[in-house]
Order: sequence, then C-alpha cells, then structure tokens
Amino acid sequence: MWSDIFIRALESKSISEIRKVPKADLHNHAGLGYNLNRLNLLYNIRVSPPNPVMCDLYEMDAWIMNQLVPCLPATFSFIDLLQLTVDEAIDDGVAVLDTSIDLWFIGKHCRGIVDACNEISQICSRYSGKIEIRPEIGLNRTQKPDEIEDVVFELIKSGVFKSIDLYGQELEVKPDGFSKIWQYAGKYGLKRKAHAGEFDSAQMVRHAVEVLGLDEVQHGISAAACAETMKWLAENKIVLNICPTSNVKLSRVQSIGVHPARVLYDNGVRITINSDDIAVFDTTTSQEFLKLYDTGLFTARELDMIRNTGLVG
Ligand SMILES: [Zn+2]
Repeated sequence: MWSDIFIRALESKSISEIRKVPKADLHNHAGLGYNLNRLNLLYNIRVSPPNPVMCDLYEMDAWIMNQLVPCLPATFSFIDLLQLTVDEAIDDGVAVLDTSIDLWFIGKHCRGIVDACNEISQICSRYSGKIEIRPEIGLNRTQKPDEIEDVVFELIKSGVFKSIDLYGQELEVKPDGFSKIWQYAGKYGLKRKAHAGEFDSAQMVRHAVEVLGLDEVQHGISAAACAETMKWLAENKIVLNICPTSNVKLSRVQSIGVHPARVLYDNGVRITINSDDIAVFDTTTSQEFLKLYDTGLFTARELDMIRNTGLVG
C-alpha cells in the first residue's frame, strides 16, 4: 500500500505527500539533525546558515566552531538537540531513525554517562509509537582509540545504543586504530558503520569494511569508480547509506543529476537515501527522494525499492 502512495507522491512531486510515507534515515547526526529554525526558536538565538556550497569538510567544521557553537547558550544539552532531531524526523515521515550521538556530547553531560544513557532511553520510549529511534555511538577520528575505549565499551554494554559510527577527516586518519572498539561493538550486537569513501578512494571503502567489519558504509560513493569494489560490496551485501545533497554541498559531486548513486545501484550495490546533517545541508530524507526523482536520476519505482531497503536494513 505505501509503495503505491509513495510512487504517486513522487510522480506528483508533492513533498507533503512524500513526507507522509514511512521511510528510514540511517545516516543522521543528532548534533545537527534539525532545521536551524528549530534551534533558533528553542534558544532564542540567530545562527547564520553556512555557505550553500562549501569547499570541503574543513569549511563545514569551521562553520560549526565559529558560527554555531558560539551561539549556543551555556545551559545547552545534547538532549535538546536529540529532541529537535527526533521532532524533525517525525515531521518528515521517518519511521526508523539511526541517529549518532557524539561521544564528546555524552562526555560533557553534566550528570554523567549513566544519566545521559537514561535520558536517551527515555526519549526512545516516549516516542516508541511514533518512530523507532536507534541511538548510535558517534566517534570522531580525532579521538585517540586507546584514550576512549573504556568509556566506549561502557556505552556499548549499556544496551542503549544500536549501532556505532566513525566520522571526521578520513584522508587524515585511517580507520585501522579503531578495529578493537568495532570488534567489541560487534560482539554486543551493534550494527557497525563508518564514514568511508566520502572523500577517500574506492579501495578505502573496502579497506574500512574489512578492518572494522562494517555492516554499512556512510557515503561510500567513491566505490562507484571501481567495478571490482562494487562487485565485492554487492556480493557481501554491504549497504551504503548515501546523502546526495551533502555530497553536492561539500563539493564532492557536481550535482544531484550526476550523483554516483545511479552507478552503484546499477551495479547491484544496496543503497539507502538519508539526510546527514539537516542543519548544515538544509535538506531532509523526503526532500532527497524528491530531488533524485526530479532530476531523473531514478524512477519513482526504483526510489520506492531504495526506501524499502532502508526500512528493512
Ligand atoms: Zn555523515
């Protein structure tokens, strides 16, 4: 039933109808998973949006540190940001939300780690009828694995988190040093993810999957340049959680109409469509689906299949 409604909604290019159809957002960061207007309203602040197109991740990080963070009130809590992210997802018709909560936020929580985990759990329970929230441990590559492993092991064992993700400058820090943490996460049944092949090569996508035992790759779009890597990803049923607007706005892909998601899909790689950082990229999962249809990159039926891949993944 939802498939027919979704296809019709795409064909009529109605964003409000697309929003009504259940979808997954499996690549979402709770620190930035909301429209900036929501944040400005909540704290009565005025954060200026970043440039519509940025050179790279360094420019995005500079906007976060120089524009966003200084505007936040001293009383701010990551729980507020998680709340905004969940509200945004519900309004967008997201039924399954993997949202990463950065270790830095958890470490800064005024009442300690156990309390932070309890508060995350409470939000998940409060919305359980409306949306399945699957909290994700988010680690930045700037963290030293041996300095954080004790606290990450504690988070893994808490049972609150359903997955783990690694992000940050992939050209600077290889994933290898995090293998012990990812192995531990696998032992406790967490879904293992990492950003790879967003800026680095197809070979790095495969390397990250092998060294961290990944179930899913965040982005992974460089794989489209290598037939052998795509064949390997398809054979091993590795899912790529793709965020087209993020790739365009970080100058990695020229436009939505030439996004490598098409090549990956045609080569049998399982892909999903997601939002990434809504506050930065000013887009939602529903809008991403519409853009992919509107530019003719995918048919409505193909996008519905991709939507379903996310929901069962
Ligand atoms: Zn991301």
